[in-house]
Amino acid sequence: MLARLLLIEDEAEIRTMLKLSLEDEGYVVHEAADGRSGLALFHEHQPDLVLLDLRLPDIRGLDVCRELRRESIVPIIVVTAQTDTHDLVAGLEAGADDYVTKPVVPKALAARIRALLRRVGMQEPAAPSTSAFGNIELREAEAVVLRRGQPLELTKTEFRLLCELAAQPNIVLSRDQLLEKVWGYDYLGDSRLVDAHVHRLRNKVEEDPQRPRLIVTVRGIGYKLIKT
Ligand code: CA
Repeated sequence: MLARLLLIEDEAEIRTMLKLSLEDEGYVVHEAADGRSGLALFHEHQPDLVLLDLRLPDIRGLDVCRELRRESIVPIIVVTAQTDTHDLVAGLEAGADDYVTKPVVPKALAARIRALLRRVGMQEPAAPSTSAFGNIELREAEAVVLRRGQPLELTKTEFRLLCELAAQPNIVLSRDQLLEKVWGYDYLGDSRLVDAHVHRLRNKVEEDPQRPRLIVTVRGIGYKLIKT
C-alpha cells in the first residue's frame, strides 16, 4: 500500500518541489497552501503522515498541529526555519513526531518519513517490481500487465487493484481494505465499486472468468490473489 502524505506549506515553490520529490519516492501527496485547507484535506483524505510548515499565513502551524493531535495519532513532521529552535521545541510539544529544518533536503526528508512510517508500523512504498502468477506477469514500474506474454489493456483503477492484490498474495483483502488502498478513501462503504472492478479485472486476467483461479472470492470477506 502506498503511504499517503499531506503536505501543508504556503510557499508554492517549496511545496511543488517537495511534492514532486516525494512522489518520486513513491508516496501519494496531497497538498495544502494554508492551515485551514490543510485541516480540511486531513479530514477528507485521512493521510498516513502530515508534513507541516510551522509558518503559515492563516492559522499558526502550532495550532494546526495541536488540532490534528486532538483528534488523531497521525505521524506529524514539522518544518521549521533552521535558526528557530523555539519553534522546533514548541512544535514537538504541540505533538509533532519529528522535524526537519529549512532548506529541506528531499532525500533527507524522505529518510525521516520512512523511519517514522516504519516506527508506526506503516509499510514503505513497495519497490517497483515484477511479479508473476498464473499466466500473468505484472510489471509495476512500467505499468504493464502481460497475459501469456501479450499486453493487457487495463484501466488505471484495474491496474492499481491488481497491484494491491498482488502485493499481498494469498491473503484475503476485505472490500473496505481494497476501497481504501485503491480509491484512497472510504467510498461510502460502497463495496459494489470493488465488485465491479474485480469483475472487469477477471474478464481480462482470468482464463475462464466464470471460474476465477487467480482472483478468488472469499465469501463474506473479500478477495485474494492466488500465487502458487
Ligand atoms: Ca511558511
